[in-house]
Amino acid sequence: MSLYGPSGATHDDFTKVSGSFDRAIGTLRGLRDRGVAVTAAVSLNTVTAPTVRELAALMATERIPLSCNLTMLPARSGTTDPTALNLPEEELATLIADLAIPHGDRLAGKLPDDPPCAAARSIVALDPYGTILPCHELDIPAGSLREKPFAELWRTESFENLRRIRFGDLTDCPDCPYRAVCGRCPALALRTGGTITDHAALDCRTARVFKKVFDL
Ligand code: SF4
Repeated sequence: MSLYGPSGATHDDFTKVSGSFDRAIGTLRGLRDRGVAVTAAVSLNTVTAPTVRELAALMATERIPLSCNLTMLPARSGTTDPTALNLPEEELATLIADLAIPHGDRLAGKLPDDPPCAAARSIVALDPYGTILPCHELDIPAGSLREKPFAELWRTESFENLRRIRFGDLTDCPDCPYRAVCGRCPALALRTGGTITDHAALDCRTARVFKKVFDL
């Protein structure tokens, strides 16, 4: 569940929905108390960064893990407005070090014939309308569970094509010095105007920052 600050003043200011912090934290606590494994997630950006350490402390007190998303992505509508909120590299590096944020490792140790990611392989996403997608980010629908059984959707041509892509097919990544700390996302490559085997400049930037932090 997303949180954008440690209080109503900060979270609600980001969501523009009054009372949304109280409802979000109340839901997290309620699920935790019922034994459900929950994680709070925060997107690091120029709005949330000033209070993220306070949010991390609050989540530690609440015994709720906090996951940090490091990149503001272009919206699904195509607008790149959210990317203007991305933190400068130096500030991102400081937060990664302070909060001990783990680096991506999606490409670490990959061989040319390995799959580049788990989408439509070991994971799949179901949207609220019954549509099956390769993951939560890749907008390549297989079809609707309202119309076909899952087994048929799983074998749809778009998913089979995705499963044919190998690490060795990616542009630049196999020989990249940052690949051990990189969490390259094919959906971000697509959303920033590339193809599914390309890489997004925003992913390269994050990997570069991680390498800087871990090389210190
Ligand atoms: S930093 Fe960029 S080029 Fe290098 S492995 Fe990651 S996505 Fe590929």
